[in-house]
Amino acid sequence: MKVAIYSTAEYEKPFLERASADFAQQVVYISEPLTEASVPLSKSCDVICCFIRDTLNAPVLELLSQQGIKLVALRSAGYDHVDLDAAKKFDITVVNAPTYSPSAVAEHAALLILALARKFVIAQHQIEKNNFSLDNLLGIGLKGLTVGIIGTGNIGAALAHIMNGFGCKLLGCDLVKNPECEKLGLKYVTHDEIFSQSDIISLHCVLNDSTCGLINKHAIEKMKDGVMLINTSRGAVVDTVAVKEALESGKIRYFGMDVYENEKAIFFKDHSKEGIHDEMFEQLRKMPNVVITGHQAFFTEEALTNIANTTFENIQKFASGNMQNQVS
Ligand code: NAD
Repeated sequence: MKVAIYSTAEYEKPFLERASADFAQQVVYISEPLTEASVPLSKSCDVICCFIRDTLNAPVLELLSQQGIKLVALRSAGYDHVDLDAAKKFDITVVNAPTYSPSAVAEHAALLILALARKFVIAQHQIEKNNFSLDNLLGIGLKGLTVGIIGTGNIGAALAHIMNGFGCKLLGCDLVKNPECEKLGLKYVTHDEIFSQSDIISLHCVLNDSTCGLINKHAIEKMKDGVMLINTSRGAVVDTVAVKEALESGKIRYFGMDVYENEKAIFFKDHSKEGIHDEMFEQLRKMPNVVITGHQAFFTEEALTNIANTTFENIQKFASGNMQNQVS
C-alpha cells in the first residue's frame, strides 16, 4: 500500500518513519493540510492519513474517491471533522487511533486545573519581571472539591483516577456508565446535576449534535458561582461567547481551554510575525483567569509513538481485510 500522510509536522516524522518501516509501508510525506487544492498531491496513493486540521468534507472526499483512495487513516481519536455520510457515499473507509494515550489528555486537563487553581501562569509572568511578591497568587485547594466529568470514556476515566488521587468527590454523566469510574466512587448524575453541584467541570465527551454548544448560557446559569470550566474535548462543545460573558460576570471564575471552536485558523501554526486576528480569542487570552494551550493535550512522546503504530497497524489490517478501529 502507498500511503500519503497529509499535514506531516517535523516533530512527528521520526515516529511515522519508525512505524512505517516496521510495517513495511511506502510513504509520501505531505506537509500541506488536505484541502480540495491539495488532493492531487496524493495521486498514485491507495491510502491517505490525516490529522484534525485536514478538511474531510463531501467535496474533498468525492475528489479523493475519484482519485482511487479507499481508506482514510486518521491520526486522531476524534473524527468530528470527517463527513462520515459522504465517506460512506463515496465508498471510503475511515479508521481512527482511539486510545493512543487517554492519560496524556487527562494529565493535561489536570495541568490546566492546577495551573488555574494555583495561579501558575500569573506567577511565571511575575517572576519574569523579578516580582516575587505573593500578590495576585492566592490559590484554592482541590481536596474535597467536587469534580464533574462530562463524558466518562477513555479520557474522562483517566481524569477520574487523577482527581480521585487529589481527594476530590467525583460526579459524572455519560450515555453509558463506565464501571472503572464507578469503582472509584464516581456517582452518575444528569447534566443539570453536574452543572449545579460541581466546583470544577471538565469536558471529555465527543463532539456531536447532542454535545455541540452543551455549555451554553442556560447551562452556565445552572452552575455554581465561581465554577472552574476545563475543555480539552472539542471547542464547539462550548458556546465561547456565553463562557466569555460568564467569565466577565464572575459566574465562571476560571477557564482552561486546550481547544477552541475557531482553532483551525490559529492552532498548529506560528503566528509570531503576523499576529492573531480573532477578537474573541484575543479577549480570552487577555483574561488572567483563563489559561489557553493550543490543542497540545495529546502531545507526548508516548502518544506520538502509539498514534504512528496504530495508524500503520490500521492500514495493514485494512490491506489484509481484517478491519480494526473503523469509524465508517
Ligand atoms: P471516548 O469515546 O472514549 O469517550 C467519549 C465519551 O463521550 C463516550 O463515553 C460517550 O458515550 C460520551 N458522550 C457522548 N455524548 C455524550 C453526552 N451528550 N453527554 C455526556 N457524554 C457523552 O473518547 P475519548 O478518547 O475519551 O476522547 C474524548 C474526546 O476528547 C474526543 O472525542 C476528542 O474530541 C477529545 N480529544 C482531545 C484531545 C486533545 O489533544 N485535546 C486528544 C484526544 C481526544
